[in-house]
Amino acid sequence: MMQKTVEIYGAGLAGCEAAWQVARRGIPVRLYEMKPHKFTPAHHSKGFAELVCSNSLRSDCVSNAVGLLKEEMRRMGSLIMEAADATRVPAGSALAVDRSLFSAYITEKISKHPLIEIVHEERDTVREDVITVVATGPLTSDSLSDYLIRSLGCGDLHFFDAAAPIVDFSSINMDVAYFASRYDKGDADYINCPMTKEQYDAFYEALITAEEAELKAFDRESQKDLKVFEGCMPVEVMARRGYDTLRFGPMKPVGLIDPRVGKEAYAVVQLRKENTAGTMFNLVGFQTHLTFPEQRRVFRMIPGLENAEFLRYGVMHRNTYLNSPEILDATYAMRTQPLIRFAGQMTGVEGYVESAGSGLVAGINAARQAMGEEPLLFPEETMLGAMAAYVSRGGVGKFLPMNANFGIVTPLGYRVKGGKAAKNEKIAERALEKISEIKASMQGDAIAQNQ
Ligand SMILES: Cc1cc2nc3c(=O)[nH]c(=O)nc-3n(C[C@H](O)[C@H](O)[C@H](O)COP(=O)(O)OP(=O)(O)OC[C@H]3O[C@@H](n4cnc5c(N)ncnc54)[C@H](O)[C@@H]3O)c2cc1C
Repeated sequence: MMQKTVEIYGAGLAGCEAAWQVARRGIPVRLYEMKPHKFTPAHHSKGFAELVCSNSLRSDCVSNAVGLLKEEMRRMGSLIMEAADATRVPAGSALAVDRSLFSAYITEKISKHPLIEIVHEERDTVREDVITVVATGPLTSDSLSDYLIRSLGCGDLHFFDAAAPIVDFSSINMDVAYFASRYDKGDADYINCPMTKEQYDAFYEALITAEEAELKAFDRESQKDLKVFEGCMPVEVMARRGYDTLRFGPMKPVGLIDPRVGKEAYAVVQLRKENTAGTMFNLVGFQTHLTFPEQRRVFRMIPGLENAEFLRYGVMHRNTYLNSPEILDATYAMRTQPLIRFAGQMTGVEGYVESAGSGLVAGINAARQAMGEEPLLFPEETMLGAMAAYVSRGGVGKFLPMNANFGIVTPLGYRVKGGKAAKNEKIAERALEKISEIKASMQGDAIAQNQ
């Protein structure tokens, strides 16, 4: 099937990357962006790919998950990475950018591309007869959100996100923590961290006095309207209701016999598998709004988590995202309407680089669809492929947004001497080999020279 133009909604990190990937394959793009006529509560500048908060794109080492993702994207010809490298500011091993120059670089490249037409307009519907990538972000305008829910069958979008921290299984001290299910019912799926009264007292005091992150004004507004808020109350708020509230809630010890002492502890923190491979565990009922350093300090007081490595911290902010495992495939296309793709934070990837990475995969596949080619599925040995698979399949339980991390990548299948860093380097090496293979298989892919 040949078609003239791919439409992309939203000139943020994902939308710009997707537009670039489509146009560099010789396919015309119509890119809709509602700025400057209308701004989300977090966007303030007229430029494209605006970084709404931090100016850091995090680690730049390939033995770090987001560092690997960045390297894969560079090798796949990412515009976002090209701009980041061109506008970087000194930040140790992290890749931080001058946000104005970064946005200006991308705005210019996109605006000057002969195959990209820019339309400054808010979209409030999605054309179902055109190859489209919707990348309107976590603060998608209300009219479009309503349309996605009511007319496109996207089900409930999540409007307020409360997430518990996720830790790396290999960093949990299993000499202290133990696997068990309450009353030994079913499989022993939970990791339990037992506390004595003295440990609980110290933890409780630290929790109720820890510093909370500041809520943005628009988040405060969203929060007021939300019924869900009571259901996902931050653990520190619940704790302030009374000394024993947690011991009757998420830290209930009954039915959990500590095998080392043969009796119930005074309180127990439970962790549940976050992925089927069992490499990541979330702290059950510990959705939180504490600052990240405070989460690290206070939650490491939990016995067994003294050296816990946090793969994702708990967060609370407004966040529009799809229940992607029910809606999208691993090319970010709707299962029911394959002409329509989504990209960016609204698919359930979390973070600037992850959003751009999903835009890259969605953009390449939109272009291939326009050229009548087979979809390109990135293998799960790559971070790009692992993220797409996570979005299309989810983990265990409620689907939650996820940063790039090694827990979602296909395991190596053999042991590596030299600890975690050495293992991650091997995973990175394998991923980059896969990327080379993909590039080699794309030799015939019409990447236009006029970028
Ligand atoms: C308050 C906040 C702070 C964050 N801070 C960080 C951080 O520090 N680090 C990090 O890695 N991640 C952060 N994130 C998460 C995420 O990485 C960013 O939101 C990222 O910008 C998402 O990229 P995106 O392309 O999906 O969406 P965006 O970059 O938000 O781009 C979406 C674009 O679509 C436009 N748009 C919206 N609705 C419409 C419509 N109906 N029609 C046309 N255009 C529309 C918007 O104007 C915007 O330009 C934050 C998120 C939020 C909400």
